[in-house]
Amino acid sequence: MKHIAIVEDEVLMREELSDLLRKAGYRVDGISEFQDVTSRLLALSPDLILLDLNLPGINGFQLCRELKQKSSVPVLVLTSRDELHDELHALQLGADEYLTKPCRKERLLSRIANVLKRFEGRANLLEGNGYLLDRKTYTLYIHNSSVILPKNQGKLLEVFLTHKNEIVPKETLCHAVWGTAEFIDENALQVNLTRLKKTMSELNMNQQIVPVRGSGYKLVISLFTERG
Ligand code: CA
Repeated sequence: MKHIAIVEDEVLMREELSDLLRKAGYRVDGISEFQDVTSRLLALSPDLILLDLNLPGINGFQLCRELKQKSSVPVLVLTSRDELHDELHALQLGADEYLTKPCRKERLLSRIANVLKRFEGRANLLEGNGYLLDRKTYTLYIHNSSVILPKNQGKLLEVFLTHKNEIVPKETLCHAVWGTAEFIDENALQVNLTRLKKTMSELNMNQQIVPVRGSGYKLVISLFTERG
């Protein structure tokens, strides 16, 4: 059963939408609190997010941008803002579909079905700079071919791709690989990071992992590649 999260501040509208989608066979979560809404939405890990733009205390466009930066979840904007420049702005920020309220139920349902179909099979893919990583199989799609990464390397790269533009603490990396950060084995972590760095360089990826003194590691875009 596909899972849809509804971000809508108007209670009646939210209930009406939830009801419609449940009857259409979806599992539904309605979001009514907008503090830390990005992380709460990502924790729900829905198959699609239905997003209102006029929300209390939060900019819907900004929210759309953050969701698309941090995940591959499809976002369907459903808003009363019917101006073309709003629609173009939302699409530019990564929204996958834009509908204005009031909207025919049939239209909403068919757009939702279309977007879900378009994203079928992409739910596990994380996007890097010029490559994709399947977080289930650790298959890396790059330069029109694919490579299966050894498990530990896949786990490490997965963490970096879900913490884009952030410094990732050693504890987080250890937890990803060994399921615990209780005993941080610096050497074992080093060995695995070195292997991943070697793989990334061999695959001529234009991103590299750099240490950040005292805090952890960060994935950055490299200025120079090894080859080419
Ligand atoms: Ca609203």
